[in-house]
Amino acid sequence: MPRPLCATIHLDSMQHNLARARACAPQARVWAVVKANAYGHGLERGVKGFMGADGLALIETENALRLRELGWAKPILLLEGIFDASDVPLLAEHNINSTVHSIEQIRMLEYTQLYRPIDVHLKMNTGMNRLGFKPADYAAAYKRLRAIPGIRNITLMTHFANADELEHPRLSIAGQVQRFVEGAAGLEGERSLSNSGGVLHQADLQAQLQNDWVRPGVMLYGGTPGGGRTARDYGLRPTMTLSSEIIAIQDLVAGDTVGYGSRFEAPGRMQVGVVACGYADGYPRHAPHGTPVIVDGVRTTVVGRVSMDMMTVDLTPVSNPRVGSQVTLWGDGLPIDEVAGMAGTIGYELMCALAARVRVTEGRLGTHG
Ligand SMILES: *Cc1c(COP(=O)(O)O)cnc(C)c1O
Repeated sequence: MPRPLCATIHLDSMQHNLARARACAPQARVWAVVKANAYGHGLERGVKGFMGADGLALIETENALRLRELGWAKPILLLEGIFDASDVPLLAEHNINSTVHSIEQIRMLEYTQLYRPIDVHLKMNTGMNRLGFKPADYAAAYKRLRAIPGIRNITLMTHFANADELEHPRLSIAGQVQRFVEGAAGLEGERSLSNSGGVLHQADLQAQLQNDWVRPGVMLYGGTPGGGRTARDYGLRPTMTLSSEIIAIQDLVAGDTVGYGSRFEAPGRMQVGVVACGYADGYPRHAPHGTPVIVDGVRTTVVGRVSMDMMTVDLTPVSNPRVGSQVTLWGDGLPIDEVAGMAGTIGYELMCALAARVRVTEGRLGTHG
């Protein structure tokens, strides 16, 4: 028997969430973002779950090549572009669309003879101050790219610093869009601005926010980019259920303590269950007492400190707990964002941090375990 800890990937939910993204931005084509091993879901499952996307976007050239090996024939976008001139021939050979965010990357393209035309995404910095050309320098970068023989389509692109909330006090979506529109004025090409936050706010921004291509990531995996509304509010479904079992039960009396540091003290007689899952599996060590967990369909909480391979939960609300009782750490019936919020992080980080040692299977939502 393998260890009971398992991540079940719900391909049906991935398809559903992709349809939600399309419904939010019906005029746009969709790059499904599969960086970070498809947000922890596995690149292969990203390909299967997002078969209906118009393109897949990620970071590394070697993973772009893996997508081709897995049979993905539609467009691929490198979100950070290339890291060295020696990567340029790969773009042409495997028909990979590269982001261009710096003068150095333009030079790499200028110095390499292209035997086949390539498409690029020219990135504007609209306030994130991470990658991209400032609005005032954007047209010059565009002209320089345009002059390179072998560059075919140039998509005009930016990435929002703030898209999770509509009205960020420092820099609103509308403010970022305005910078983009000004910097890109008069330039020909398709436009790609929105990540999940932008896609989910498309209805509020209507004509202000025009995308030919959107780039949703976390929403496709049933997480939200933040901003207060829940995945359920947006009609998104969980795509990863992390489940395990109770492997031991301890009967406590008042004053007994649990786990490293003896952080939890039993207020009276109670039972705690030991779950086969710890921080070395990707469960957040900082999840405090009170973090929700489901045991045999009943919501209860984490008690004591999460250790490397195990964690402990309060069995008080569970009617007949036993060794072998089913535990859901997040996913089906328990939003990953809720667990993440308790641990002071975001759903993105929990998904991406799923450890390599965790067994992964596929199953429909509601039928795992
Ligand atoms: C990660 C990423 C996305 C997707 O962001 P989400 O918030 O997960 O939707 C889109 N565009 C770029 C450039 C990214 O790096």
